[in-house]
Amino acid sequence: MKERILDLQRASEILEPTERERRFLENSAIEYSDQFLNRMPGGHAYRKEKQQVHSLLTEPLSEEPMELPAILKNLDEKVFQSGLNASSGGQLGFIPGGGLFGSAVADYLAAVTNPYTGIYYSSPGSVCVETRLIRWMAGLAGYPASAGGYLSSGGSLANLTAVVAARENAEIQPKDVEKSVVYLTDQTHHCVDRALRISGMGSCVIRHIPTDDRMRMDPHRLEETIEEDLKSGLKPWLVVASAGTTNSGSIDPLAEIGKITRQAGTWYHVDAAYGGCFLVTEQGKENLKGIEQSDSVVIDPHKGFFVPYGLGALIVRDEEKLAAAFQAEADYLQDTRIDQPARSPADLSPELSKHFRGLRLWLPLKLYGLQAFRSALEEKLLLAHYAWRELNGIDSVETGPEPDLSVVTFRALPDHGDPELWNRRLLDKIVADGRIYITSTRIGGIYMLRVAVLTLRTHLEDLDRFLMILKEKIDELKSEQG
Ligand SMILES: *Cc1c(COP(=O)(O)O)cnc(C)c1O
Repeated sequence: MKERILDLQRASEILEPTERERRFLENSAIEYSDQFLNRMPGGHAYRKEKQQVHSLLTEPLSEEPMELPAILKNLDEKVFQSGLNASSGGQLGFIPGGGLFGSAVADYLAAVTNPYTGIYYSSPGSVCVETRLIRWMAGLAGYPASAGGYLSSGGSLANLTAVVAARENAEIQPKDVEKSVVYLTDQTHHCVDRALRISGMGSCVIRHIPTDDRMRMDPHRLEETIEEDLKSGLKPWLVVASAGTTNSGSIDPLAEIGKITRQAGTWYHVDAAYGGCFLVTEQGKENLKGIEQSDSVVIDPHKGFFVPYGLGALIVRDEEKLAAAFQAEADYLQDTRIDQPARSPADLSPELSKHFRGLRLWLPLKLYGLQAFRSALEEKLLLAHYAWRELNGIDSVETGPEPDLSVVTFRALPDHGDPELWNRRLLDKIVADGRIYITSTRIGGIYMLRVAVLTLRTHLEDLDRFLMILKEKIDELKSEQG
């Protein structure tokens, strides 16, 4: 038997490369990364995939080893060169983000060292780092020292965790669900709807509070609706405000909603997945005033702090409430229950074994200093205003409201014919060109084009390029129509 064991050990030795082999792998990866980054400026923002991409669905996972350069070549052709170039400067589509190289270094280190970041006992240091980040973001939101939270994989999971905490805090039993009421607007991110369904609250009463002409929740209607619901014996449970809607970047009146929720005794959640990072800027702090009154807030560092996909954050005013919802015991974890200066992530979230995902934010913050992030975010706010102003200066263009944050909506007006059809064709032309990527949406039922500024690499020259391409495509359309 020993012979067989040793044979198997030898047969799997390749899984543990020698130092020389590691250096070769690292160098190949670095070489590819440099190549990828060097062609980024002015490169494509969106590219439709070639047919060969689909071979990835069936390509065999072979028994035999392959060389990394060959694997990278395959990845480059089939993965990294098509679809959205998410962290490129021309990505002005889905709430953008990314680009921070320091995060890649952090991810590498986190993967090599692999601290078990679910439980304080297993990795006191990494849990302290993550707790520090959570307390820092709690400070940005203006929360007291009682605050705590959870670093999730993104905003959807953070919002789901918030909804579960709010449900547990209100001690809602299955029989109470149909009498419980949640208040939001038609601009609330769809992940909140989904969170309600996943959390077993799908059949609660959902009130869509009307919005004003700038797509912000009308606080008077909120107050009236809550009063009516109380009178008719329903139980107002949760109010969800948006601090930066995905659609238009509009911010609900956070302070007024805070006053109403405090009187009504409902849980007040702010989805600031998009807008929360702007709290490091003076302008953002001003625009998000009132956020400190909430019970919980979601911030997505993989948006406004430019880290790669895979980092969201839920911050709760009272950490005890999060612990009450998620803390769990198991015999095989009995050795881990020690005195600790920071609660384990596993006691504050649905996760147990957890990647040290906080390092991808902590390391760049240390490496570059907060001032650089503040400047980059102020730059993005100004770029959006610049785009809005320049769009207003184009004759055949109509803009949506002046941006609260960094999303601008607009549409081109045709000389004759259906504006929606015209703008659909315009968008097709811009996306097919590929240098710039923007999306469309509906504002008050009207088909609008939408520019969102938030990757680290989006600068003035990208916005100028966008404006140039827009004018070029409008002219093309006009000449085609004759
Ligand atoms: C992006 C976003 C979400 C979803 O976050 P993911 O990180 O994509 O899961 C939720 N709410 C708002 C307002 C967002 O902008």
